[in-house]
Amino acid sequence: MTPVVEMRNVSAGYGQIDVLHGIDLSLSQGTVLAVLGPNGAGKSTTVRALAGLVRPTNGQILLQGRDVTGASPDGLARAGLCVIPEGRGVFPRLTVDEHLRLVARDRAGTAVARERAYAHFPKLAQRRKQLAGTMSGGEQQMLALARAVAGDPAVVVIDELSMGLAPLIVEQLYEQVRSLAAAGISLILIEQFAHDVLGVADHAVVLQHGRIVRSGTPGEVAADLAEFYLARDR
Ligand code: ATP
Repeated sequence: MTPVVEMRNVSAGYGQIDVLHGIDLSLSQGTVLAVLGPNGAGKSTTVRALAGLVRPTNGQILLQGRDVTGASPDGLARAGLCVIPEGRGVFPRLTVDEHLRLVARDRAGTAVARERAYAHFPKLAQRRKQLAGTMSGGEQQMLALARAVAGDPAVVVIDELSMGLAPLIVEQLYEQVRSLAAAGISLILIEQFAHDVLGVADHAVVLQHGRIVRSGTPGEVAADLAEFYLARDR
């Protein structure tokens, strides 16, 4: 089966300096990939490369078999790639419903798209009129996921889903990630801290100094993780 997303030997960076050196990633439909790594490893740059915000200096990015290397962020979004940035990208003064109405990429009509999102996140259906700024961090992350779902994505890239959230909330969000995967959506979770995300992933890679230094099942990667993190990061 054609992978939903592939990075083939991608190098990318800022100005003249490459931060990523020959990244290879591949993700099949309905699976969850964890991308781990310590501070400065290149996780955010990987997200930016996938989002079309930094252009690869070498290699290719493919979405559902189509070469999208160098495509604009808009073009990538239309092709089915949704990025949830660090900090979730929700608008405090817009309601839940307004967020879902904002979704531009909407093949099936806005009402259908919204109801698809509410079907996955029934808790949000009860809060349609609530301003995002009055929601908890976990609810805002849920809203960011719901907005992604409304856009009918092939793949959702989430930068630091767990940032600033209590472990129990993260666990609940990961259950939702699993149910999105079961519905056929592929997800890439970028996380600095490895513990919980390994429980939700089908496959994991570890970045260090802009290179993938480990790739395997969560169990295989977990066994080697200590090597890549300072004691305080474990
Ligand atoms: P963190 O978890 O600390 O954000 P990260 O794994 O996401 O780390 P990146 O933010 O991708 O790592 O940074 C990788 C390298 O790229 C670092 O050396 C960083 O200084 C550099 N870098 C990041 N953003 C820029 C930028 N806009 N301009 C120049 N260099 C940058």
